[in-house]
Amino acid sequence: MLLLSCHEAFARRANGSPRQPGTEALQFSQPPDMASGGFFFSGRAGLNAEVAGDRPRRMKVATISVHAGTPEGPNAPITTPVVQSTTFRFESAEAVQRYARGERGLYMYSRDENPTVRAAEEAVAALEGAESCVLFGSGMGAMTAALMALVSGGEEVVAATALYGGTYKLLRDVLSRFGVRARMVEPEGLVDACRRGGARLCLFESPTNPTLRVVDIEAVARTARGSGAISLIDSTFAPPLVQRPLALGVDLVMHSATKFLNGHSDHLCGAIAGRRDLVETVRGVARKLGAVLDAQVAYDLLRGLKTFALRVERQCASALEVARWLESNGAVKRVWYPGLPGHPDHELARRQMNGFGGMVTFSVGTREKAFRFWDRLKLVARAASLGGPETLTSLPILFSHTGYSAEELRRAGVDEGMVRMSVGLEDPEDLIADLRQALE
Ligand code: PLP
Repeated sequence: MLLLSCHEAFARRANGSPRQPGTEALQFSQPPDMASGGFFFSGRAGLNAEVAGDRPRRMKVATISVHAGTPEGPNAPITTPVVQSTTFRFESAEAVQRYARGERGLYMYSRDENPTVRAAEEAVAALEGAESCVLFGSGMGAMTAALMALVSGGEEVVAATALYGGTYKLLRDVLSRFGVRARMVEPEGLVDACRRGGARLCLFESPTNPTLRVVDIEAVARTARGSGAISLIDSTFAPPLVQRPLALGVDLVMHSATKFLNGHSDHLCGAIAGRRDLVETVRGVARKLGAVLDAQVAYDLLRGLKTFALRVERQCASALEVARWLESNGAVKRVWYPGLPGHPDHELARRQMNGFGGMVTFSVGTREKAFRFWDRLKLVARAASLGGPETLTSLPILFSHTGYSAEELRRAGVDEGMVRMSVGLEDPEDLIADLRQALE
């Protein structure tokens, strides 16, 4: 029904090269032509690319986040329709063959590709300035598919010790069983580790979780490339408005889109974006692993993206205010926030980032004090995750880093009195009032 009412908006995609799904810029200039091709929509052209004009320029993130992935053309719907169908009709055997040859606008089965998911992929690619993007049912789905697609048994991954716990455990407990070796190094040792060579892939985060150290992305990407390794950054803590790793030379950027991209604490999703050849390799494996994104979630991601820039700007501003207040509070032993001049990577963060992100980590000294503080919070939620409208706090030793040995905690820079906070969209005055009463 929805599709019929949107008929005019769907245009037949031009004949394409061999099947290589990506972030093609698609037109909405023609009515559907079922006989000679598909009629599905796709995202708006020109956002991700340089825009023609007196001086070509890329549109700003706030604009891209509103318009990317939406249909274009005569009478097109303003929002992207949800194509809630597992499978798609073919009018003939010849059409299936055209699909197999890569004709654009044809779909077979939603585990392989779905128009709404494809629109959301185009949006994330546009935001990251990527050639291509593939979305998943979770951030860990994205990371698993990327590592399984790009690294084989017997090969080595150089990885920073300060990794999201799930990623670290994926390397330690799962991929190790398939012969993938992980060489864990301190984030500041990544450049040297890449220079030594021998690794297939260099995996890191910036800012790191939970200590918010900032890695020199450009230096790591350059050294990795020089040694023949693929660079893959988990940029979940610093979404596109704050940081654009691909522009700094990284091959692939991964997001738990569950967090700032979707931004509403209501769906799990993950993204891999970057060089087309690598993304398409990951997509090929993703289809076999099956952790793909559902069309309804893709729609909700697109809706979340409409307010992306507003949300993230506000979260960065509030996080800085809260971090400054925490730093001035006698009960707080240490604050990690790259926007504070005392942070060891403050200068690098100023050069590399645009704002300092919505995450603040601090320590109240001991496990007992952390538990007491945490239990006393009234407004701020005691919960895992980040990037949503609500301010959330977690204790790394109970959440992301549970099950780590004392030595693993030390190497990850996690102390037992540590609290990780994702600053939401509440008024910072109310947040500070709650933190104050919990610290008393
Ligand atoms: N990477 C980082 C930095 C995260 O914080 C998380 C989740 O908290 C993930 C990856 C995993 O993402 P998901 O929970 O969407 O699988």
